[in-house]
Amino acid sequence: MIIVTKPEATEDQIQHIIERIEEWGFKTDVSRGEQRTVIGVIGDEGSIREKPIAAIAGVESVTPVLKPYKLVAREFRGGTNSVVKIGDVKIGGPEIVLMSGPCSVESKEQITSIAQEIKKAGARVLRGGAFKPRTSPYAFQGLGVEGLKLLAEAREATGLPVITEIMDTKHLEVIEQYADCLQVGARNMQNFSLLKEVGRSKLPVMLKRGMSATIKDLLMSAEYILSEGNFNVLLCERGIRTFETYTRNTLDLNAVPVLKAETHLPVVVDPTHGIGLREHVASMALAAVAAGADAIMTEVHNSPELAKSDGEQALLPHEYMDLVARVRKVAAAVNRAL
Ligand code: PEP
Ligand code: MN
Repeated sequence: MIIVTKPEATEDQIQHIIERIEEWGFKTDVSRGEQRTVIGVIGDEGSIREKPIAAIAGVESVTPVLKPYKLVAREFRGGTNSVVKIGDVKIGGPEIVLMSGPCSVESKEQITSIAQEIKKAGARVLRGGAFKPRTSPYAFQGLGVEGLKLLAEAREATGLPVITEIMDTKHLEVIEQYADCLQVGARNMQNFSLLKEVGRSKLPVMLKRGMSATIKDLLMSAEYILSEGNFNVLLCERGIRTFETYTRNTLDLNAVPVLKAETHLPVVVDPTHGIGLREHVASMALAAVAAGADAIMTEVHNSPELAKSDGEQALLPHEYMDLVARVRKVAAAVNRAL
């Protein structure tokens, strides 16, 4: 349910609306615009509808959200964009944010030197997996807590905030100690107990689209996180499975404008997993920026042939530099900056 206040509503009236809604046992999410304030009401839609909200002074309109997803719906924040912070880096504002790093954290030397290289190139967030979801149980599973510590050391050395994947609710506490943002991977997009748990975290969450999930499925999964109180959610398009086998996945750039229209949440594109072929990652990064992405996540490795995961799709640092220079130009063409 969305309440829009009258342009002439006073601050006291707005406060009174919020207090009344909360007295009725619902939560509120307030977005202040130039003219009007939009108050999103969080709770069971059915019982909210029975309350005489329109009778409160200062209320202009009361509108139910008719979509199956409510809190993530664009209307819920009066058509404005949410800005989500990873450390001090803002995603969803006028600037496009570059997030980068290796698929997996492998050693102190590896993660720190890659972090320094990507920072020099213009990246603002460091990625790196410590708990890795691998198709084979015999493949490298990540360094676990040791990997988290190395990420924190790389943050110390560069000032870049850190995003890393959470695969299991039992790791939330330790990841919260070391990281600045949680990543829920494609394979866990519909792990509803994990979604609820990260919904109770203080850290922002980047939710990656499942490989056979529809856009609506992605939004419904995000709704789980917001419904637990965590509104700091980024949605990430990372490619879906189609009949095409030339590329690792099919990067569904259709999702970018559709998500921007459907939700207030920032949209990240991961062209690396989307296409899976190093030589084509840059082209898809450019296309993602043109399509309206708020952030681009790419994998970079200083020695891809020795990488313990995803070496074939990782860019070398000099290739990443080149990508950033080209992204800057496309960003300018769509009135964004890096
Ligand atoms: C990753 O980011 O390294 C990863 C495993 O991504 P996804 O969940 O999209 O496959
Ligand atoms: Mn990877």
